[in-house]
This record gives sequence, structure tokens and C-alpha cells, in this order.
Amino acid sequence: MKTKMRILVTGAGGFIGHHLVRRLKADGQWVRGVDIKRPEYEATAADEFQLLDLREYEACSKATTKIDQVYNLAADMGGIGYITSSHAGIARNNTLINVHMLEASRQNQVKRFLFSSSACVYAQSKQTSADVTPLREEDAYPADPEPGYGWEKLYTEELCKYYRQDYGFDTRMVRFHNVYGPLGTYDGGKEKSPAALCRKVAHAVPGDVVEIWGDGLQTRSYMYIDDCVEGLIRLMASNHVDALNLGTDRMVTINELFAIICEIAGKTLRVRHDLTKPQGVRGRNSDNTRLRQVLGYEPSTPLEQGLRVTYRWIEQEMHRAGRTPTLVGSRA
Ligand code: NAD
Repeated sequence: MKTKMRILVTGAGGFIGHHLVRRLKADGQWVRGVDIKRPEYEATAADEFQLLDLREYEACSKATTKIDQVYNLAADMGGIGYITSSHAGIARNNTLINVHMLEASRQNQVKRFLFSSSACVYAQSKQTSADVTPLREEDAYPADPEPGYGWEKLYTEELCKYYRQDYGFDTRMVRFHNVYGPLGTYDGGKEKSPAALCRKVAHAVPGDVVEIWGDGLQTRSYMYIDDCVEGLIRLMASNHVDALNLGTDRMVTINELFAIICEIAGKTLRVRHDLTKPQGVRGRNSDNTRLRQVLGYEPSTPLEQGLRVTYRWIEQEMHRAGRTPTLVGSRA
């Protein structure tokens, strides 16, 4: 029989953390969730949920007491509009969380620590074309990451390496490429492109004009939340200590993403491109060669399938709040 581990998930009130807690509980683990807020859309499955501000060292110390493994997902983050709006605040908040979480975990003899990094660490100069070459892990250097958010992620990756080299502290580092799915933020300014477009489409009636940021030709790849959680658990169990991409390598333009969502919703809508809004790097895709080698796994949920579930969930949430014109029109 497998021994039950005591696992801490920080950011358990947020999107990925909440789903991860659910999966770890289904796998039979003991789980403590920590966040400054509770999950917004359903109750946590965690055995214990502590409301703590992890920018404070004492809070990190409390969170990591009697814990075997830490999935450190807490972060001040959002979509491109949010992360380009406040470099100082985001970099400061995330630096404090990560520096204190690493040290408190070490002091409390945590056995393994996973840091959630991001594709925002990749050099901007390698992402200037929509037809971008998929990014390999080594493309983060020479360093030229996203200002604020990306620099902090890259710096914390370095810090994880120093902790391993100097203290023998066992760390893992994952670089997520856009994660989407139900139970994620879809309004308020922190939402990312799939959720924002689902909300706009759900809100529209056929013939309406929907605003897309940039010219819509910028490219990204998107990973469904269940695949993300599977990859996280596999990486934590693996012996791979270097940063690893976790994403899909199917690249779509934002216009294509919008068209898929319209098709799911059964709505014909017009588009207005707002060129004054931030669009981030021109193109980004994940090279999954190492991911396949290391984990023997790769996210595989088709975008259309994952978006169908996500769209339905957002549409239902908005309907509950009286914000959709109608629920009919959504196709199976
Ligand atoms: P999220 O915003 O839904 O969750 C992050 C959680 O951290 C939130 O619930 C927030 O309240 C919490 N938090 C923020 N400041 C805190 C503090 N001071 N103390 C305690 N908790 C605090 O974001 P997510 O999408 O679930 O992202 C999880 C992790 O994955 C983050 O580290 C993020 O940077 C990284 N990431 C996510 C994506 C993505 O596409 N979702 C992409 C790249 C990297």
C-alpha cells in the first residue's frame, strides 16, 4: 500500500491550485490548501485550508509545517493586460512569496518543492514572429524575459537551483504554457485569452461586434487544465530537476481561437481589432521534446474539446449572474 503523503498546495484558492487539490484528494493524499482567498466557484476538497498571506515569512512557516511536498502555485498573476499593468507590484509580491516559501520549506524539512514558472521566462527576441519556432527549455537564455512577471519567474528558477546546489534542497520547476478550463477567472481583469473570449461570446447576440486585442494574428498554444494537473503530478514524481515545458504544441492565432469558440456557441459574430491593447509577444509555442522524454507524457486534450467544456461553464456562470442573453444556442 502507498503511504499517504502530506502535501501543501499554495494558490489553492486559484484556478490550477484548486484543480490540483481535487486531483490529489482523489488520489488519496492528505492535502493542505493555502491562499489569501477561498476558491470562488466551489468548495475546496482540501483536508485543511488556511487563509494566509504568503508574502510574510511567518505565514510560509505555518503553511509548511509537517509537510512532505509543496506545490508552490501562489502568485500575483493574470492575463497580458494585468501583467503588463503593474511590473513593480507583481515582481515584489511574487518575489516575497517565492523567497519565503523556499526558505520556510527548507527550514521545515519539506522533502520536495515544485515551483510553477511560466513560458513568460522565454527570451522576447525569440518570439517576434507569429510563425515562431517552438521554444526549447534552453531558449530562456541569454535572459530577455517578459518585464516584471517573467523576470521574477526566471530569477526564482535560479533561486531553486541555488537551493539545490548549496543546501541539497530538492526542487522541481515547471514552465506552464497558457492553461485554460472551467473554474478559472473569466472577468475582472485577471482573466486570460480563452476565458475572456468565452465571456465575450457568451455575452453577445448573433451579429454583435466583439473586441479582440491586437490584430488577432498573434499565436499561442493552450493546455487543458486536466492535462496540466497530470503533468504536474508526473513532474513532482520524476527525477528531473531542470525547468521543463508543460503545454501543448498546437499553435493557433487568437482569431482562430475566437472562431472555435463562436462555433461551439453556435453564434456568428463580427470582430473589431483593438490595436491599442497589449498583445504580448507576437508568437509563442512549446517544444515538447524534453517533456516527452522526461515524463513519457504530453498534454493531448483537443482544443475544441477543452474549450467546449470551458465555454459551457462560463456561459452557465454568467447565466446564473443574469449576464447572458440566452442559454439556447450552445451546441453539444
Ligand atoms: P490564479 O491567479 O488562479 O491562482 C493564484 C493564486 O495565488 C490565487 O488564488 C491568489 O489569491 C493566490 N495568491 C496571490 N497572492 C498570494 C499571497 N500573497 N498569499 C497567498 N496566496 C496568494 O492563477 P493560476 O492560473 O492558478 O496560476 C497558478 C500558478 O501557475 C502561478 O504561479 C502562475 O504564475 C503560474 N502560471 C499559470 C499560467 C496559466 O495559464 N494559468 C501560465 C503560466 C504560469
